[in-house]
Amino acid sequence: MEPEKKTSALQEIKGVESPDSINPKATSFVGKNKFPSANEFTEGIFSGNITYLSRAITVIESTNPAHSDLASQIITACLPKSGNSIRIGITGVPGVGKSTFIEAFGKHLTALGKKVAVLAVDPSSSISHGSILGDKTRMEELVKDENAYIRPSASGKTLGGVARSTRETITLCEAFGFDVIIIETVGVGQSETAVHAMTDFFLLLKISGAGDELQGIKRGIMEMADLVVINKADGDNIKKAKLARTEFERALHFFPPQSSGWTPKALTASAVTHDGIPEVWETISDYVSLTESNGYFLERRNLQDLEWLSQSLKDRLLQQFELDANLNESLEQMKKKVLEKKISPFIAASRLLEDFLKGRKP
Ligand code: GDP
Repeated sequence: MEPEKKTSALQEIKGVESPDSINPKATSFVGKNKFPSANEFTEGIFSGNITYLSRAITVIESTNPAHSDLASQIITACLPKSGNSIRIGITGVPGVGKSTFIEAFGKHLTALGKKVAVLAVDPSSSISHGSILGDKTRMEELVKDENAYIRPSASGKTLGGVARSTRETITLCEAFGFDVIIIETVGVGQSETAVHAMTDFFLLLKISGAGDELQGIKRGIMEMADLVVINKADGDNIKKAKLARTEFERALHFFPPQSSGWTPKALTASAVTHDGIPEVWETISDYVSLTESNGYFLERRNLQDLEWLSQSLKDRLLQQFELDANLNESLEQMKKKVLEKKISPFIAASRLLEDFLKGRKP
C-alpha cells in the first residue's frame, strides 16, 4: 500500500540552496563581525586596493547608525592625505552626452597617465528609484580601464545625503591617489548647486540648436560655468556647434567678472571623433594654473569647507529637533504659532534654541 501523503501545513520541506548569483564573499562581508577595522580599511585605501575603497564608500553611504563610527574613523584617517586632485563638476540634461563625453575625456586623461574617479550626484535615484545616471551600461570602456574608477550615486537618499556621501567619497578617493575626480550630475533639484559647491571647476555640456528652455538649463547655471562645451560637434553638426560656441563666448563675456580672475570659455567637442577633448583638459589646466598662482584655488576650497561646516551644523541641529520627541513637539507648536502669525519665525527660532540649550545644561 502507498504511504499516505503528508499535506499538513506543519510539514517541513527541504529549503532551497542559495542561487549562484549571491556572491559568497559579499555575504560574508555583510556579516557584522566580518567588517574590516578602520585601520584595515585605511591601510587598504592607502595601498591602492580598489576593493577596500569601494567597501569604505559603502560604509560611508550607509544609513545604519552602527556604521557611523567606523565611517568617521575612516574619513578622519584619510583627511591628511586628501586634497591633491582636481575636482571637476560636469552637468547637462539627459541625452546631452555626459556619459559618452566623460568616457572619452576620462580615457584621454588616463592616456596622459592620470588616475580618474567618476562619481555621480543623482538625487533622482531616490525620488523615482530609477537612477538617471547610474545604469551599468554606461562608460563601458572607462570601466575596464585600471586607472579609472566609476561609482554611481547612492540611491534612496535625499540630495543632502547624496551630497554628504559624495564629499566624503572625494576625501577617500583623494587619499587613494586619484588625480582627477569628475562629479557628474543632472539638473534635478538643486544638484548643480550642490556639485558646484564641492568642485574646483564647473563644466556645462550643451548641444547646439536647442534653446535653454528646450535643454532644461535653469537660470543661474550658466553663471556657475567655468566652461561651456557644445557637445556632439561632428558630422552635420559641426557648423552649428561652432556658431553656438561663438555665441556663447560672446554671451559669457557679459557676465560679471569672477573672483577667480578667470573668464569663462566656450569650446566644441565630440566624443565620437574626439575633436576638442584635449582642448577641454588644456582649458581646465589653464584654469588650475591661473587660480593656483593667484591664490583663488586654495581660497575657494577653504571657503567650501567652512560653508560645509556651517551647513552641516544647521542640518544637525534641525535633525536634533526632529529626532527628540520633546524638541519636536516644541518645534511643531512653534510652526503653528508662526502660521497663525502669533510669533515671528526669527523669534520662534531664538526661543527654540534657548530651550534646546537649557535642556543641554547640567
Ligand atoms: P547622457 O544622458 O547625457 O549621459 O547622454 P549619453 O552619453 O547617454 O548620450 C546620449 C546619446 O547621444 C547617445 O545615443 C550617444 O551615442 C549620443 N552621443 C553622445 N555623444 C555624442 C557625440 O559626441 N556625437 C554624437 N554624434 N552623438 C553623441
